[in-house]
Amino acid sequence: MAKKFTHIETKLVHAGEPNPRIGNAVSMPIFQSSTFESTGDPEYYDIKYIRLNNTPNHEVLHDKLAALENGEAALVTSSGMAAISTTLLTVLSCGDHFLFQKGLYGGTHELITKNFRSLGIDFDVIDGNDPDTWVENLKSRTKAIYVEVLTNPLLEVADLNRVVEFARNNQLTAIIDNTFATPVNFCPLDIGFDLSLHSGSKYLNGHSDIVAGAVIGRADLLREIRKKLAYLGGTLDPHTCFLLHRGMKTLAVRVRYQNKSATRIASFLQEHSAVAEVNYPGLPVHPQHERAGELFRGFGGVLSFELKAGLNAARDLLNKLVLPRVAPSLGGVESLVTLPAATTHSGLSVKERQEMGISEGLVRISVGLEATEDLVEDLLQALEG
Ligand code: PLP
Repeated sequence: MAKKFTHIETKLVHAGEPNPRIGNAVSMPIFQSSTFESTGDPEYYDIKYIRLNNTPNHEVLHDKLAALENGEAALVTSSGMAAISTTLLTVLSCGDHFLFQKGLYGGTHELITKNFRSLGIDFDVIDGNDPDTWVENLKSRTKAIYVEVLTNPLLEVADLNRVVEFARNNQLTAIIDNTFATPVNFCPLDIGFDLSLHSGSKYLNGHSDIVAGAVIGRADLLREIRKKLAYLGGTLDPHTCFLLHRGMKTLAVRVRYQNKSATRIASFLQEHSAVAEVNYPGLPVHPQHERAGELFRGFGGVLSFELKAGLNAARDLLNKLVLPRVAPSLGGVESLVTLPAATTHSGLSVKERQEMGISEGLVRISVGLEATEDLVEDLLQALEG
């Protein structure tokens, strides 16, 4: 059978795996060695050393990740934030300007707004659904446009095809954080993005037990990002590479189950009289439902909602829920529930949150792998108890 696998389920299990297997081991062994013997006179970046992201455990993951999203190359990093910061600091230099979408993950938003101007990198915030704001803010020194596949926690879907077209027409690097969709639901490089980023701590690993990140995309850009990562030091250690690798093999079955379960839970919440609004792109009332249906193979496992009775009722709900654990993060086998204003977006001011549309009482659920009906029953007792 050809080495180039077509279907994502097969790629998850077989793409990038050593052939023949190392010592006949069916699973990739952990190479717990910081350095490796070298022959000849290797270039600096070819010396095998964990910080240079090129040990056997890194290489297998790079090949698998590139295959999953049809990228020319890939790189794993020590966290999603390491992937994001290293990518932006490679693509952008002092004097450059870039555009980023309103409503980004709080950590990314703060990284940019609290640090980049002091590095001489300027930026403007755009509305992912209003291309006029992209044109209005474009400058001759604009170098990149940065969006998220689904914004967190409001689950908005930007006009991604137009983002790519705008980037092409203006020679910008098009970057997307694809954490929420995963390659199971969406492959951004297929529609023309240059770089796709992930927090591997979420769905890719799927077990809420590691922190990791990934960058997938154009080989020329990946070469530069890998060099920058070697100096910034955000490398993934071999044991965590192994855990990420193990977790990823079940990505397709997990995400497809979570797509279905979240859709059912979103419909249940939408029909409940205590709920004011549900944000989930799988619901026909979602403002970008049609676009999400065209772009994505599934609507994802995260949804958010507001209760009519506000913040105190939301806190009460969290106290009464039995199955979802009250914790930030997402994408694991266990359902997690959080108030984004108090966790993921707590670094922002109330005004900044209001501008993003994140109310203080907004509840976000990351749907896990529990039985859907158990989760619905639990939500029902917590809403009515
Ligand atoms: N991108 C998104 C969309 C996230 O939700 C997060 C974390 O919650 C990150 C990036 C950062 O990832 P990490 O926590 O792995 O650094």
